[in-house]
Amino acid sequence: MQTLNDRFPERILVTGGSRGIGAACVRAFAARGCRVTFLYARSDEAAAALAAETGALAVKADVADRDAVFAAVERITAVMGAVDCLVNNAGIAQFRLFTDITADEWNRMLDVNLGGVFHCTQAVLPGMIREKYGRIINLSSIWGLTGASCEVHYSAAKAGIIGLTRALAKELGPSGITVNCVAPGVIETEMNAALDADTRAALCDETPLECIGRPEDIAQAVLYFAAAPFVTGQVLSPNGGIVI
Ligand code: NAP
Repeated sequence: MQTLNDRFPERILVTGGSRGIGAACVRAFAARGCRVTFLYARSDEAAAALAAETGALAVKADVADRDAVFAAVERITAVMGAVDCLVNNAGIAQFRLFTDITADEWNRMLDVNLGGVFHCTQAVLPGMIREKYGRIINLSSIWGLTGASCEVHYSAAKAGIIGLTRALAKELGPSGITVNCVAPGVIETEMNAALDADTRAALCDETPLECIGRPEDIAQAVLYFAAAPFVTGQVLSPNGGIVI
């Protein structure tokens, strides 16, 4: 039998923190007084601005590159100590007919969205296991729950994250580490910049709460899992009711 550890995590790593949902998570944890670091791939200016705004440490590393991830985590650990909360948020999306998806596009989608979770989680786990405490929070999507036409590779990767979350929660529970998943609905970020006005209106019409979500709505769900010692292996889907 183990005693649950109620403390809120102190040293946070958010992947894909430079923009969108990840940036909202960085702000939310920084506002709680946590030490926050984030990984990003390309957006140097946005990353530097967010680091200056929040005091977070920005580290450039492609989550699909295992060596780069392990090097980044080593650097982060040297600066702030072992990560006790990992938010696996970095992700890419693509709209393509299944028959048009190339093998390279398929592999990249899986390498970033699912492989990134694998690499980042393995890189931080030794510290969490040593401390017998940790929070791992993975970003899936409603499309990982329901499947999306013309986003088969994205849906497959996001469904994989749900499977990974449930299996890993079982494996890591005895080590005092919780593993949970947030599966957002449609959120106002650059990932959805290509949606035209008609599509947006149609999405709002389909959604019981009649709107598109904000990155802060997802950060709130992430904070919930960070705070919850007896919750593991769960999927929470803030989606305005579009999937019930
Ligand atoms: P976004 O605005 O496109 O931002 C993506 C973030 O991930 C950026 O910080 C980006 O860094 C980073 N990133 C992308 N590829 C990376 C890589 N290979 N290595 C490291 N970082 C990488 O996306 P978002 O809407 O905030 O989405 C965040 C997460 O929520 C994703 O996993 C997404 O699938 C999921 N989600 C989003 C929605 C939605 O409607 N927006 C709905 C459901 C789930 P750079 O800026 O440096 O490229």
